[in-house]
Amino acid sequence: MGEEKTTFENARQRLNAAMEHVDFPSEVIERLKYPKSSLRVSIPVRMDDGSLKTFTGFRVRYDDTRGPTKGGIRFHPQVDLDEVTSLAFWMVFKCAVVDLPFGGGKGGVIVDPKELSLLELERLSRGYIDAIADFIGPDTDIPAPDVYTNPMIMGWMTDEYNNITRHKEPSVITGKPLELGGSRGRDSATGRGGYFVTRELEKQLGIGPGSTVAVQGFGNAGYWNALFLSEAGYKVVAVSDSKGAIYQPNGLDVKSVYQFKQQESTLANAYCHGSVCEVRDHEVITNEDLLALDVDFLVPAALENAITAKNAGTIKAKALLELANGPVTPEADKILFEKGIHVLPDILANAGGVTVSYFEWVQNRNGFYWGSEEVDDRLEKIMRQESATIWAFAQERGIDLRTAAYAHSLSRLSSAITAKGTKDYFHKINTGSYKAVSA
Ligand code: GLU
Repeated sequence: MGEEKTTFENARQRLNAAMEHVDFPSEVIERLKYPKSSLRVSIPVRMDDGSLKTFTGFRVRYDDTRGPTKGGIRFHPQVDLDEVTSLAFWMVFKCAVVDLPFGGGKGGVIVDPKELSLLELERLSRGYIDAIADFIGPDTDIPAPDVYTNPMIMGWMTDEYNNITRHKEPSVITGKPLELGGSRGRDSATGRGGYFVTRELEKQLGIGPGSTVAVQGFGNAGYWNALFLSEAGYKVVAVSDSKGAIYQPNGLDVKSVYQFKQQESTLANAYCHGSVCEVRDHEVITNEDLLALDVDFLVPAALENAITAKNAGTIKAKALLELANGPVTPEADKILFEKGIHVLPDILANAGGVTVSYFEWVQNRNGFYWGSEEVDDRLEKIMRQESATIWAFAQERGIDLRTAAYAHSLSRLSSAITAKGTKDYFHKINTGSYKAVSA
């Protein structure tokens, strides 16, 4: 059964379906089967009580055919090499879907950052960079934020890298604070990118302003997406975090719920007392209940494997926007497709974050910074264009949007891999049929 497979096996499985729809040399798949390099490091950290604690971290560079590897750093207790490898694999396809000149990579540290003081967190962040400094660089591998890491952490990390190399190189890491070379619009970019995908395809999906939305995972991506959707007239009726969910059929005030969560650090406290959270009655429900709500649009924005063969049958939404990476397993995909539920796949739906990371990298390298409007306009153009192309391809072939997105990105990867030479090319050289074009 697919459900017992590792996350990485599930991730690679997506290629099989896509392969049938792209014409490319078979060795392209051979090149994409394994990560280019994987690093595992131990990070000794002096804790506030004077003790020494060792954390384990990873950095995986999956494929760099299209450019330096790119991808975030996750701080989470469940991080392991299988997860980081899968996330790096997804980054390869994500960057190709939106045509960025990047390959894919990812990093992670096994830690619950909520249990650390800010000083411990800073020492861990700097220690992680000390451990991987030879592996990263503005032209080799460029980290960014991911689950439970943020601009402040990216600032510490960039500073540490610059201390090691003894010169200022802001483009080594993206998602930095604005004051340290970050880009305008990077904080809201993942949510905004998903918003543009939704607006581009809403008619085709049978949703639009007035439609009800449930958001599973109310972190950075989930919050901004919910905010943009609600500003456009969608009705956000439920949001959740790792502790539970709140439901209000008349619609939630997204901003005030988020402010409350920030203050109290969990939604659980918004259930609901005090003046910040709106006092209209919320129903308290579980994460599972949220997924099964009778809403038009469901936004999984938390972690991998939230929707599996076990709960896919309970989903009633017309469409899903995968703001998280890998929230739907391959078996769940089949069930949703059979039920006629469209899934806007992660490698497209959450690509807004890395797209604005690319803008940040470009601005850093030019030393010239763009206004918010320029960032948002460029992001909108890319997200809408790729969404429309993928939708059209899926319609033409009668396939699901994920397969279409993988096929689209595989064809870009395949051209790049092929341009470096394939069996046919080298075979021709060996048999003397190669003709150099004279200048
Ligand atoms: N962690 C984000 C992602 O999964 C952003 C990566 C980046 O900006 O490089 O796409």
